[in-house]
Amino acid sequence: MALQLRPNCEYCDKDLPPTAPDARICSYECTFCADCVETKIFNVCPNCGGGFVPRPIRPAKEWRPGVCVTKHVPSDKRVHLKYSADDVAAHVARIRNVSPEER
Ligand SMILES: [Zn+2]
Ligand SMILES: [Zn+2]
Repeated sequence: MALQLRPNCEYCDKDLPPTAPDARICSYECTFCADCVETKIFNVCPNCGGGFVPRPIRPAKEWRPGVCVTKHVPSDKRVHLKYSADDVAAHVARIRNVSPEER
């Protein structure tokens, strides 16, 4: 199973194509842009409470048989936050000072 490579930031809806260097994901692959992770949600996933890492870029070229971005195509299903801004702010405030390793 491959990462879905979701097409947008759940918070601000910025496009995050598969080559975006500023895509960030949590362990559940909730996807946000680096700016929102740093300035809006402070490394707290609004959905699961986990931290984020940079999303790896899937190679465009088929260096090995069957594994590249044209064999495992990115998701085109845009995802949007299911919580209100107030709810997210409270959730983030509760968790942001706990390091991801201790959540
Ligand atoms: Zn964003
Ligand atoms: Zn998450």
